[in-house]
Amino acid sequence: MSQLLSNLILATMTEGYGLIPDAAVVIEDGTVAWAGPRAAIPGPYDRLPPIDLGGRLVTPGLIDCHSHIVFAGDRAGEFEMRLNGASYEEVARAGGGILSTVRATRAASEAELLAQALLRADQIIASGATTIEVKSGYGLTVADEVKMLRVAREIGRRRAVTVKVTHLAAHAVPPDYKGRARDYIAEVAMPSLKAAHAEGLVDAVDAFCEGIAFQPDEIAPLFHLAKELGLDIKLHAEQLSDLKGAVMAARMGAMSADHLEYLGPDGIAAMAASGTVAVILPGAFYTLREKQLPPIAALRAAGVPMALATDCNPGSSPMTALTLTMNMACTLFRMTPLEALQGVTLHAARALGLADRGVIAAGKRADLAIWEARHPAELGYRIGATALHTRIFGGHLDA
Ligand SMILES: [Zn+2]
Repeated sequence: MSQLLSNLILATMTEGYGLIPDAAVVIEDGTVAWAGPRAAIPGPYDRLPPIDLGGRLVTPGLIDCHSHIVFAGDRAGEFEMRLNGASYEEVARAGGGILSTVRATRAASEAELLAQALLRADQIIASGATTIEVKSGYGLTVADEVKMLRVAREIGRRRAVTVKVTHLAAHAVPPDYKGRARDYIAEVAMPSLKAAHAEGLVDAVDAFCEGIAFQPDEIAPLFHLAKELGLDIKLHAEQLSDLKGAVMAARMGAMSADHLEYLGPDGIAAMAASGTVAVILPGAFYTLREKQLPPIAALRAAGVPMALATDCNPGSSPMTALTLTMNMACTLFRMTPLEALQGVTLHAARALGLADRGVIAAGKRADLAIWEARHPAELGYRIGATALHTRIFGGHLDA
Protein backbone atom coordinates (compact mmCIF):
# COMPACT_ATOMS: atom_id res chain seq x y z
CA MET A 1 0.00 0.00 0.00
CA SER A 2 1.37 3.43 -1.02
CA GLN A 3 0.56 6.88 0.36
CA LEU A 4 1.57 10.27 -1.00
CA LEU A 5 1.94 13.11 1.53
CA SER A 6 1.92 16.45 -0.20
CA ASN A 7 1.99 20.23 0.43
CA LEU A 8 4.45 20.18 3.32
CA ILE A 9 7.74 21.71 4.43
CA LEU A 10 10.21 18.89 4.93
CA ALA A 11 13.16 18.80 7.34
CA THR A 12 14.83 15.54 6.32
CA MET A 13 17.76 16.05 8.81
CA THR A 14 20.03 14.35 6.27
CA GLU A 15 22.36 17.36 6.01
CA GLY A 16 21.69 20.14 8.49
CA TYR A 17 17.93 20.58 8.53
CA GLY A 18 17.76 19.24 4.95
CA LEU A 19 14.92 21.71 4.32
CA ILE A 20 12.71 21.24 1.23
CA PRO A 21 10.16 24.13 1.15
CA ASP A 22 7.41 22.58 -1.02
CA ALA A 23 7.87 18.85 -0.55
CA ALA A 24 6.20 15.46 -0.86
CA VAL A 25 6.84 12.09 0.78
CA VAL A 26 5.86 8.66 -0.54
CA ILE A 27 5.37 5.89 2.02
CA GLU A 28 5.21 2.21 1.05
CA ASP A 29 4.71 -0.64 3.52
CA GLY A 30 5.75 1.44 6.52
CA THR A 31 8.90 2.75 4.87
CA VAL A 32 9.76 6.01 3.14
CA ALA A 33 9.93 5.17 -0.58
CA TRP A 34 10.71 8.67 -1.80
CA ALA A 35 11.06 12.21 -0.38
CA GLY A 36 11.76 15.39 -2.33
CA PRO A 37 10.33 18.50 -3.97
CA ARG A 38 6.62 18.24 -4.86
CA ALA A 39 7.44 19.25 -8.45
CA ALA A 40 9.68 16.21 -8.85
CA ILE A 41 7.49 13.30 -7.67
CA PRO A 42 8.51 10.36 -9.87
CA GLY A 43 6.01 8.09 -11.61
CA PRO A 44 4.02 6.07 -10.78
CA TYR A 45 3.80 7.86 -7.37
CA ASP A 46 2.64 11.09 -9.06
CA ARG A 47 -0.71 9.37 -9.79
CA LEU A 48 -1.43 8.57 -6.10
CA PRO A 49 -4.20 10.65 -4.48
CA PRO A 50 -2.26 13.15 -2.29
CA ILE A 51 -2.84 13.61 1.44
CA ASP A 52 -2.64 17.42 1.80
CA LEU A 53 -0.70 18.49 4.92
CA GLY A 54 -1.61 22.16 4.55
CA GLY A 55 1.94 23.49 4.30
CA ARG A 56 2.91 22.14 7.73
CA LEU A 57 6.45 21.27 8.81
CA VAL A 58 7.34 17.54 8.78
CA THR A 59 10.35 16.18 10.67
CA PRO A 60 11.48 12.67 11.55
CA GLY A 61 9.48 11.30 14.50
CA LEU A 62 11.30 12.41 17.66
CA ILE A 63 13.32 9.96 19.75
CA ASP A 64 13.57 10.15 23.55
CA CYS A 65 16.79 8.18 24.11
CA HIS A 66 16.88 8.36 27.95
CA SER A 67 13.86 7.94 30.24
CA HIS A 68 12.86 6.36 33.54
CA ILE A 69 9.08 6.38 33.03
CA VAL A 70 8.35 3.11 34.85
CA PHE A 71 7.91 3.92 38.56
CA ALA A 72 5.17 4.16 41.17
CA GLY A 73 4.22 7.17 43.23
CA ASP A 74 5.61 10.63 42.65
CA ARG A 75 7.74 13.04 44.59
CA ALA A 76 5.55 16.15 44.49
CA GLY A 77 5.19 16.06 48.29
CA GLU A 78 8.96 16.13 48.65
CA PHE A 79 9.18 18.96 46.11
CA GLU A 80 6.74 20.95 48.25
CA MET A 81 8.58 20.12 51.51
CA ARG A 82 11.85 21.37 50.09
CA LEU A 83 10.32 24.60 48.83
CA ASN A 84 8.88 25.14 52.30
CA GLY A 85 12.41 25.06 53.67
CA ALA A 86 13.01 21.39 54.61
CA SER A 87 16.61 20.16 54.27
CA TYR A 88 17.55 17.08 52.24
CA GLU A 89 18.09 15.29 55.56
CA GLU A 90 14.57 16.15 56.76
CA VAL A 91 13.15 14.97 53.43
CA ALA A 92 15.08 11.70 53.75
CA ARG A 93 13.91 11.23 57.37
CA ALA A 94 10.32 11.74 56.19
CA GLY A 95 10.85 8.85 53.76
CA GLY A 96 11.64 10.89 50.63
CA GLY A 97 14.31 10.56 47.98
CA ILE A 98 14.96 7.73 45.50
CA LEU A 99 14.22 5.10 48.17
CA SER A 100 10.62 6.31 48.40
CA THR A 101 10.29 5.57 44.68
CA VAL A 102 11.95 2.16 45.22
CA ARG A 103 9.49 1.29 48.01
CA ALA A 104 6.47 2.35 45.94
CA THR A 105 7.73 0.54 42.84
CA ARG A 106 8.38 -2.69 44.76
CA ALA A 107 4.87 -2.52 46.25
CA ALA A 108 3.15 -1.93 42.90
CA SER A 109 1.86 -4.70 40.65
CA GLU A 110 2.87 -4.92 37.00
CA ALA A 111 -0.58 -3.69 36.01
CA GLU A 112 -0.32 -0.65 38.30
CA LEU A 113 3.16 0.19 37.04
CA LEU A 114 2.04 -0.18 33.44
CA ALA A 115 -0.99 2.09 33.91
CA GLN A 116 1.20 4.87 35.35
CA ALA A 117 3.97 4.40 32.77
CA LEU A 118 1.48 4.58 29.88
CA LEU A 119 0.30 8.02 31.05
CA ARG A 120 3.90 9.27 30.87
CA ALA A 121 4.55 7.52 27.54
CA ASP A 122 1.43 9.20 26.13
CA GLN A 123 2.76 12.61 27.17
CA ILE A 124 6.14 11.98 25.51
CA ILE A 125 4.34 10.72 22.39
CA ALA A 126 2.20 13.88 22.42
CA SER A 127 5.41 15.91 22.13
CA GLY A 128 6.23 14.17 18.84
CA ALA A 129 8.02 10.97 19.89
CA THR A 130 7.85 7.76 17.88
CA THR A 131 10.67 6.01 19.79
CA ILE A 132 11.28 6.00 23.57
CA GLU A 133 14.04 4.35 25.57
CA VAL A 134 12.83 3.11 28.99
CA LYS A 135 15.07 2.03 31.88
CA SER A 136 14.56 -0.09 34.98
CA GLY A 137 16.33 0.89 38.21
CA TYR A 138 13.72 1.40 40.96
CA GLY A 139 13.32 -2.29 41.85
CA LEU A 140 16.87 -3.05 43.04
CA THR A 141 16.04 -6.73 43.62
CA VAL A 142 16.22 -9.41 40.92
CA ALA A 143 12.44 -9.90 40.86
CA ASP A 144 11.58 -6.19 40.94
CA GLU A 145 14.07 -5.25 38.22
CA VAL A 146 12.67 -7.99 35.95
CA LYS A 147 9.14 -6.77 36.78
CA MET A 148 10.06 -3.22 35.68
CA LEU A 149 11.65 -4.48 32.45
CA ARG A 150 8.53 -6.52 31.64
CA VAL A 151 6.42 -3.37 32.08
CA ALA A 152 8.82 -1.35 29.89
CA ARG A 153 8.60 -3.95 27.11
CA GLU A 154 4.78 -3.98 27.36
CA ILE A 155 4.55 -0.20 26.67
CA GLY A 156 5.67 -0.82 23.08
CA ARG A 157 2.90 -3.40 22.62
CA ARG A 158 0.20 -1.04 23.94
CA ARG A 159 1.14 2.13 22.09
CA ALA A 160 2.19 3.19 18.58
CA VAL A 161 5.78 3.76 19.64
CA THR A 162 9.03 1.78 19.51
CA VAL A 163 10.34 1.09 23.02
CA LYS A 164 14.00 0.23 23.58
CA VAL A 165 14.40 -1.36 27.00
CA THR A 166 17.46 -0.72 29.16
CA HIS A 167 18.52 -2.69 32.25
CA LEU A 168 19.56 -0.22 34.98
CA ALA A 169 19.71 -2.32 38.15
CA ALA A 170 23.01 -0.50 38.85
CA HIS A 171 21.07 2.72 39.55
CA ALA A 172 21.44 2.99 43.34
CA VAL A 173 22.82 0.92 46.19
CA PRO A 174 19.81 -0.20 48.29
CA PRO A 175 20.07 0.13 52.12
CA ASP A 176 20.64 -3.61 52.68
CA TYR A 177 23.79 -3.35 50.52
CA LYS A 178 25.07 -0.08 52.07
CA GLY A 179 28.88 -0.02 51.74
CA ARG A 180 28.77 -3.22 49.64
CA ALA A 181 28.25 -1.91 46.11
CA ARG A 182 30.42 -4.68 44.66
CA ASP A 183 28.25 -7.37 46.32
CA TYR A 184 25.12 -5.67 44.99
CA ILE A 185 26.51 -5.82 41.41
CA ALA A 186 27.38 -9.53 41.83
CA GLU A 187 24.25 -10.58 43.71
CA VAL A 188 21.49 -8.41 42.17
CA ALA A 189 22.57 -6.46 39.08
CA MET A 190 24.23 -9.35 37.21
CA PRO A 191 21.66 -12.06 38.10
CA SER A 192 18.77 -9.73 37.19
CA LEU A 193 20.44 -9.00 33.84
CA LYS A 194 20.80 -12.73 33.11
CA ALA A 195 17.18 -13.42 34.11
CA ALA A 196 15.75 -10.52 32.11
CA HIS A 197 17.90 -11.30 29.08
CA ALA A 198 16.62 -14.90 29.13
CA GLU A 199 13.07 -13.47 28.86
CA GLY A 200 14.08 -11.24 25.92
CA LEU A 201 13.51 -8.11 27.98
CA VAL A 202 16.81 -6.26 27.54
CA ASP A 203 18.14 -4.20 24.62
CA ALA A 204 20.97 -2.43 26.46
CA VAL A 205 22.65 -2.14 29.87
CA ASP A 206 23.20 1.10 31.78
CA ALA A 207 24.66 2.06 35.17
CA PHE A 208 24.88 5.18 37.35
CA CYS A 209 28.54 6.06 37.81
CA GLU A 210 28.76 8.55 40.68
CA GLY A 211 30.07 8.93 44.22
CA ILE A 212 26.54 8.28 45.54
CA ALA A 213 26.14 5.18 43.33
CA PHE A 214 28.83 3.02 41.64
CA GLN A 215 32.52 3.47 40.77
CA PRO A 216 33.83 2.57 37.29
CA ASP A 217 35.65 -0.54 38.57
CA GLU A 218 32.44 -1.77 40.24
CA ILE A 219 30.49 -1.33 36.98
CA ALA A 220 33.07 -3.03 34.73
CA PRO A 221 32.04 -6.66 35.53
CA LEU A 222 28.41 -5.83 34.71
CA PHE A 223 29.44 -4.30 31.39
CA HIS A 224 31.60 -7.33 30.57
CA LEU A 225 28.55 -9.54 31.17
CA ALA A 226 26.45 -7.28 28.93
CA LYS A 227 28.99 -7.65 26.14
CA GLU A 228 29.08 -11.44 26.59
CA LEU A 229 25.30 -11.41 26.13
CA GLY A 230 25.66 -9.29 22.98
CA LEU A 231 24.02 -6.21 24.52
CA ASP A 232 24.91 -2.55 24.03
CA ILE A 233 26.19 -0.55 26.99
CA LYS A 234 25.72 3.08 28.06
CA LEU A 235 26.47 5.04 31.23
CA HIS A 236 25.15 7.81 33.48
CA ALA A 237 28.47 9.62 33.79
CA GLU A 238 29.98 12.80 35.18
CA GLN A 239 26.67 14.31 36.34
CA LEU A 240 27.87 15.52 39.76
CA SER A 241 31.63 14.86 39.63
CA ASP A 242 34.32 13.56 37.25
CA LEU A 243 34.91 9.88 38.08
CA LYS A 244 36.19 9.17 34.53
CA GLY A 245 33.11 7.06 33.86
CA ALA A 246 32.87 8.28 30.26
CA VAL A 247 36.49 7.28 29.64
CA MET A 248 35.75 3.75 30.90
CA ALA A 249 32.46 3.53 28.97
CA ALA A 250 33.96 4.82 25.72
CA ARG A 251 36.90 2.42 25.94
CA MET A 252 34.39 -0.43 26.32
CA GLY A 253 32.54 0.75 23.20
CA ALA A 254 29.53 2.38 24.89
CA MET A 255 26.77 3.68 22.62
CA SER A 256 26.33 6.76 24.81
CA ALA A 257 27.48 8.51 27.95
CA ASP A 258 24.73 10.58 29.52
CA HIS A 259 24.52 13.81 31.64
CA LEU A 260 28.24 14.84 31.41
CA GLU A 261 28.18 18.20 33.24
CA TYR A 262 31.61 17.41 34.77
CA LEU A 263 33.07 15.67 31.68
CA GLY A 264 36.77 16.53 31.20
CA PRO A 265 39.00 16.69 28.10
CA ASP A 266 40.07 13.03 28.54
CA GLY A 267 36.42 11.92 28.48
CA ILE A 268 35.70 14.01 25.39
CA ALA A 269 38.74 12.58 23.58
CA ALA A 270 37.77 9.01 24.50
CA MET A 271 34.18 9.55 23.32
CA ALA A 272 35.33 11.11 20.04
CA ALA A 273 37.65 8.15 19.41
CA SER A 274 34.96 5.53 20.08
CA GLY A 275 32.00 7.30 18.43
CA THR A 276 30.13 7.37 21.75
CA VAL A 277 27.15 9.76 21.69
CA ALA A 278 26.92 12.47 24.37
CA VAL A 279 23.35 12.44 25.71
CA ILE A 280 22.63 15.87 27.22
CA LEU A 281 19.86 16.01 29.86
CA PRO A 282 18.82 19.59 30.63
CA GLY A 283 15.80 18.57 32.74
CA ALA A 284 17.95 17.30 35.60
CA PHE A 285 20.30 20.29 35.33
CA TYR A 286 17.27 22.59 35.60
CA THR A 287 15.57 20.77 38.48
CA LEU A 288 18.77 20.47 40.55
CA ARG A 289 19.66 24.11 39.76
CA GLU A 290 23.09 22.82 38.75
CA LYS A 291 25.70 25.47 38.01
CA GLN A 292 28.24 23.35 36.12
CA LEU A 293 27.40 23.47 32.40
CA PRO A 294 28.09 20.41 30.22
CA PRO A 295 31.07 21.13 27.89
CA ILE A 296 28.95 21.74 24.77
CA ALA A 297 31.53 23.83 22.89
CA ALA A 298 34.28 21.25 23.51
CA LEU A 299 32.02 18.36 22.47
CA ARG A 300 31.07 20.29 19.34
CA ALA A 301 34.73 21.04 18.54
CA ALA A 302 35.66 17.36 19.02
CA GLY A 303 32.86 16.22 16.71
CA VAL A 304 31.10 14.15 19.39
CA PRO A 305 27.43 13.73 18.34
CA MET A 306 25.10 15.26 20.93
CA ALA A 307 21.67 13.79 21.67
CA LEU A 308 19.00 15.23 23.98
CA ALA A 309 16.45 13.42 26.13
CA THR A 310 13.79 14.09 28.77
CA ASP A 311 15.46 11.88 31.45
CA CYS A 312 11.86 11.65 32.70
CA ASN A 313 12.10 10.46 36.32
CA PRO A 314 10.28 11.28 39.57
CA GLY A 315 13.21 12.89 41.40
CA SER A 316 15.33 15.09 39.18
CA SER A 317 13.44 15.48 35.89
CA PRO A 318 9.66 15.05 35.98
CA MET A 319 9.53 16.19 32.34
CA THR A 320 7.66 14.51 29.50
CA ALA A 321 8.03 16.96 26.59
CA LEU A 322 10.86 16.65 24.09
CA THR A 323 10.12 20.10 22.72
CA LEU A 324 10.64 21.64 26.19
CA THR A 325 13.87 19.62 26.43
CA MET A 326 14.99 21.25 23.17
CA ASN A 327 14.11 24.69 24.52
CA MET A 328 16.12 24.08 27.71
CA ALA A 329 19.12 22.82 25.72
CA CYS A 330 19.10 25.97 23.60
CA THR A 331 18.50 28.45 26.42
CA LEU A 332 20.52 26.86 29.25
CA PHE A 333 23.32 25.23 27.23
CA ARG A 334 23.45 27.48 24.13
CA MET A 335 22.95 24.54 21.79
CA THR A 336 21.69 25.78 18.41
CA PRO A 337 18.12 24.95 17.30
CA LEU A 338 19.67 22.71 14.62
CA GLU A 339 21.72 20.84 17.23
CA ALA A 340 18.62 20.51 19.43
CA LEU A 341 16.61 18.93 16.60
CA GLN A 342 19.52 16.68 15.59
CA GLY A 343 19.68 15.74 19.28
CA VAL A 344 16.16 14.28 19.28
CA THR A 345 16.35 12.76 15.78
CA LEU A 346 19.48 11.40 14.12
CA HIS A 347 21.83 11.62 17.10
CA ALA A 348 19.24 10.08 19.44
CA ALA A 349 18.80 7.24 16.91
CA ARG A 350 22.55 6.70 16.98
CA ALA A 351 22.55 6.71 20.80
CA LEU A 352 20.11 3.78 20.61
CA GLY A 353 21.92 2.00 17.78
CA LEU A 354 18.94 2.45 15.44
CA ALA A 355 20.14 2.92 11.86
CA ASP A 356 16.64 2.77 10.35
CA ARG A 357 15.34 6.11 11.68
CA GLY A 358 16.22 9.66 12.75
CA VAL A 359 16.24 11.06 9.21
CA ILE A 360 13.68 11.12 6.38
CA ALA A 361 15.12 9.32 3.35
CA ALA A 362 14.24 6.43 1.05
CA GLY A 363 14.53 3.13 2.91
CA LYS A 364 14.09 4.58 6.42
CA ARG A 365 11.12 3.79 8.67
CA ALA A 366 8.14 6.06 8.01
CA ASP A 367 8.14 7.62 11.50
CA LEU A 368 7.20 11.26 11.02
CA ALA A 369 6.11 14.19 13.18
CA ILE A 370 3.82 16.78 11.58
CA TRP A 371 3.91 20.18 13.29
CA GLU A 372 1.85 23.36 13.48
CA ALA A 373 5.01 25.16 12.43
CA ARG A 374 6.77 26.42 9.33
CA HIS A 375 10.41 26.24 10.40
CA PRO A 376 12.28 23.74 12.65
CA ALA A 377 13.64 26.54 14.89
CA GLU A 378 10.06 27.04 16.15
CA LEU A 379 10.15 23.67 17.94
CA GLY A 380 12.82 24.64 20.47
CA TYR A 381 11.89 28.31 20.52
CA ARG A 382 8.48 27.87 22.12
CA ILE A 383 8.40 27.31 25.88
CA GLY A 384 6.18 24.50 27.06
CA ALA A 385 3.60 24.43 24.29
CA THR A 386 3.65 21.38 22.07
CA ALA A 387 3.14 22.28 18.43
CA LEU A 388 2.50 18.69 17.31
CA HIS A 389 -0.29 18.34 14.76
CA THR A 390 -0.11 14.58 14.35
CA ARG A 391 2.35 11.71 13.86
CA ILE A 392 2.91 8.91 11.41
CA PHE A 393 4.26 5.74 13.05
CA GLY A 394 5.56 3.01 10.73
CA GLY A 395 3.44 4.46 7.93
CA HIS A 396 0.25 4.75 10.02
CA LEU A 397 -1.26 8.15 10.63
CA ASP A 398 -2.38 8.64 14.26
CA ALA A 399 -6.12 8.21 14.59
ZN1 LIG B 1 18.81 8.91 33.90
